[in-house]
Amino acid sequence: MIQNSKNTDKKYVANTYARFDIEIASGKGSLVYDTDGKEYIDLGTGIAVNTFGVADEEWAKAVSEQLCAFQHTSNLYYSAPCAELAKALCERTGAKKVFFGNSGAEANECAIKVARKWAQDTKGAGDYNIITLKNSFHGRTITTLKATGQDVFHTDFGPFPEGFLYAEANNFASVEKLVKENKCCAVMMEIVQGEGGVLPLSPDFVKDVCTLAEREGLLVIFDEVQCGNGRSGALYAYMNYGVIPDVVTTAKGLGGGLPIGAAMLFEKVENTLGPGSHGSTFGGNPAVCKGALNIIERIDEELLSEVREKSKYVFDTLSGAKGIKSVSGMGLMIGIETEADSSLVLAECIKRGVLPIKAKTKIRLLPALNIPTELLHRAVDIIKEVAGEMANG
Ligand SMILES: *Cc1c(COP(=O)(O)O)cnc(C)c1O
Repeated sequence: MIQNSKNTDKKYVANTYARFDIEIASGKGSLVYDTDGKEYIDLGTGIAVNTFGVADEEWAKAVSEQLCAFQHTSNLYYSAPCAELAKALCERTGAKKVFFGNSGAEANECAIKVARKWAQDTKGAGDYNIITLKNSFHGRTITTLKATGQDVFHTDFGPFPEGFLYAEANNFASVEKLVKENKCCAVMMEIVQGEGGVLPLSPDFVKDVCTLAEREGLLVIFDEVQCGNGRSGALYAYMNYGVIPDVVTTAKGLGGGLPIGAAMLFEKVENTLGPGSHGSTFGGNPAVCKGALNIIERIDEELLSEVREKSKYVFDTLSGAKGIKSVSGMGLMIGIETEADSSLVLAECIKRGVLPIKAKTKIRLLPALNIPTELLHRAVDIIKEVAGEMANG
């Protein structure tokens, strides 16, 4: 393999990633090519980011036109792309206002600040606790690490901010107990735990938590950084559950490949943040927002029903197949538990030209929402074949 950047990267880039031994050189749609010219079917989309695949023409055109008009203005002035994207998100979700940042962690930081300030304004300064779920993932800043309900993230960087309590996912009694014993302002959860192993919350759990939150005066925050923007088969995954949230955060797929984070604020909290209370230099960047608007407009009912059909195909093909212990997830966010070590299965898939990623000990699929059916079928066949062949050691 031609190593164009490996040595330079190893020498100069902070050593925070265990990269695969692949250097991506180009791509189109759901196909990517390494520096040797080897072709891969992309099932990771840059971790659920490239919603319509690599170098999507419509999206690239929207972004480039804005780049050539003006690429940035700061939030000292009005600009149309930011306003139009906020309007589209509100109209599609029922949210009243949107705050834009640049990442999932920032979207969650905003949600946490909103919950804390809302509690101060309406309940009292002591009601700052936010309940999150064990096995969750909410980001890499100091505060979102603490919000993340996994002990492994709570080392090395302390002291961490207080005010996060962890309940068991799909165990309503554990949420109820924390609410009863502590002064809380919000419950924050991923509708589908992504990094935790592609695990959807049960409908009863989500409904019960929302009812409890309403009764006890707590906000409901959904972290849809990964499962949002059409990936679940609905525009946002909470829409599959028939509940109404107070804050929805998203990022990854919203930008279609450029950095953006959004905290959608529903009625209760639409005016919690006032001028000067929060901000971001790059937040609402015109080029990024123009691209995101193109993405959101294309996630229509037709695309969503294709997502659900493709999802069904993957579940039907892999569930119960030789070497596959379980298939979990929602829409085109799928976790596969293999009998053989998933790292070995993954390595073999990569050899055979398929690029999934991992979630804990599972193989995780996050293909482009518009992946051609033929490519999806070919990739799933290869995963099935590899999992079967490797099952008996
Ligand atoms: C990826 C992710 C985040 C963090 O997003 P960044 O853009 O990396 O800051 C937060 N929450 C969930 C559910 C995620 O999947």
